[in-house]
Amino acid sequence: MKIVVKIGTSSLTYKSGHLNIRAVEQLCKVLSDLKNAGNEIILVSSGAIAMGVGKLQLRGKPEDLPGKQAAAAVGQCELMYIYDKLFSEYNHTVGQILLTADDISDPGRFENFRNTINRLLEMKVLPIINENDTLGTNEIRIGDNDNLGAMVAVSVGADLMVILTDTDGLYTADPSKDPDSVLIKKVAVITPEIEALAGGTAGTQGTGGMATKVEAAVTVTEAGTDMVITNGKDVSVLYDIIEGRDYRGTLFCGRKDIS
Ligand code: GLU
Repeated sequence: MKIVVKIGTSSLTYKSGHLNIRAVEQLCKVLSDLKNAGNEIILVSSGAIAMGVGKLQLRGKPEDLPGKQAAAAVGQCELMYIYDKLFSEYNHTVGQILLTADDISDPGRFENFRNTINRLLEMKVLPIINENDTLGTNEIRIGDNDNLGAMVAVSVGADLMVILTDTDGLYTADPSKDPDSVLIKKVAVITPEIEALAGGTAGTQGTGGMATKVEAAVTVTEAGTDMVITNGKDVSVLYDIIEGRDYRGTLFCGRKDIS
């Protein structure tokens, strides 16, 4: 299986911006194992800005664009250093691809991206993708890695995309406000009602909340690919998803009629 795994900042770092070592170690171990089992894995990782905040010992995420871009420049190095180190422990080689919105919208550049990522996969490299946060401007930023991950999943013809986040999936109401809210386990068709459920719920560190995740689900499922939103606090959930066991999360079914 070709699987795109997107992990959010809140699953990778503490509120201080320091690395959640346990979480990242578990992520690298499980993804390495899934690769050993014969799957092709592409990791879309957020966390650059937060890790830059931690490393630069800033009080919080900078408000201004140059501040965020500077934090990302520092944090992206740190992030890749950790991934390189941990995946190497399991004998896997990583390659970094940083994308801007221009790379996606310009057909020639996008073709280059596809050729490169496909070559990396042929070479058994594990591509790690993030937005090129140091170069985007407010007007042209992709802005969130859920949508970026979805574009990547479609462009490589992934069989599955999994978004690891700080909640179990899509609920019938905001679970932090409504104790009666229930996790929706399967979405066969993304209706306007489902899109409405995703209304602005970004956490303190993450970027998009549920809204961008459901947008991503629209892109991915329209290409005929399944997408799952699940909790990144225990990454071994990936085994259950891939091996067809029951898991806590929301499955958005890829549209088979058009694929
Ligand atoms: N590209 C941003 C970062 O690495 C995160 C974007 C997102 O959280 O979706 O910090």
